[in-house]
Amino acid sequence: MRLRAPRGWLLLLLVLCLRGPAAHARDQQSNSTEIPLPVFELHSGFWINLHHTLYYEARLKKALPTGDVGAARPAASAPKTALSAKQISEAEQEAWDEAVTYYAENYAEKDLLFSSELIQLKDQLGDFEDCDELSGRKRKFCDAGLPPKLTQVLETAAPVYRAHLWPEHDRANRNWILRVAPLVREQGVGISERLADIYRVRWPQGRIRVDLSAYANAAGAYTTVDPLRVTIASLDPRNQGAEALEVLFHEGSHGIAEPVQAAIIRECHQRDKPIPRDLWHALVLYTTGEVIRPVLASSDVTAGAKTSPPQGSSSPSRTVREIFSQRGWRDYLDLLQRFWQPYLEGKATFDDSIARMVSSL
Ligand SMILES: [Zn+2]
Repeated sequence: MRLRAPRGWLLLLLVLCLRGPAAHARDQQSNSTEIPLPVFELHSGFWINLHHTLYYEARLKKALPTGDVGAARPAASAPKTALSAKQISEAEQEAWDEAVTYYAENYAEKDLLFSSELIQLKDQLGDFEDCDELSGRKRKFCDAGLPPKLTQVLETAAPVYRAHLWPEHDRANRNWILRVAPLVREQGVGISERLADIYRVRWPQGRIRVDLSAYANAAGAYTTVDPLRVTIASLDPRNQGAEALEVLFHEGSHGIAEPVQAAIIRECHQRDKPIPRDLWHALVLYTTGEVIRPVLASSDVTAGAKTSPPQGSSSPSRTVREIFSQRGWRDYLDLLQRFWQPYLEGKATFDDSIARMVSSL
């Protein structure tokens, strides 16, 4: 069945037009994006973007891995830091450098995915996206309750970021959202229900919050739980075109795939086998790819994109194969195709598939 993506675009335009000048004026100041969609709530927030940009710059400063955002640049010799190509004053440079140094000293070596300090900070900054300050000096409800030094660092870096980087970062975030919105609107509920069925759970109630950020972690996207929130790097070349939808649902699946991990661990214990590292993650990646594939195959979003699997093909998409090979998961791919694929096709049960996978390890 062919998707009617253009209708989604028309609807979106209509919604934007109907919202009127007041809403547009508010958007000019607001840091959030309020495109009504099912399943996901997509944001482009100022503070969370500043935070990830400073984290990115601090990691560059310390020569730590930052993901391959640089690959999107036209030339290998292009400047690496976000601000280095901009015309900025000495005072601005100083304020920015001070913030980067603070992040280098305090956060650069912590993992965005595993450090509870960074997770909490990211979530708080997301919650205060509509505030133009974090100290509550002008408006009491804009007191984010962050450590005073951090508040000062972020508020000092904010005008520099707002003037020189935020417009293009916000544009990239919003364009990413606009590109993915029609498919989420038309297919999102169906995909989420299918994934929840596969993992034998319910899709989380309400919509999953997703923050688009120019930069994220080295993987290009990550998901934290309690509360379940997804961060996706809008500038990362791995998250573009057909992959955008896959990244969105892959990350969302992190919130519901726990039964798979539990089943793998249970089977391993019963068979006295070591728990295979990353098998559950490989399974989530594979499953999202399989569920999304028919949607993408019939959608305009793949036109010109690098993922365009032949229709009716039973081999995984190129993206899935590439990631499995990059991560050294070739054996897992074979395992999943032999024992998990039959479950996805309704020819085996969940428990049997997991049991047979584990016994073949
Ligand atoms: Zn993942």
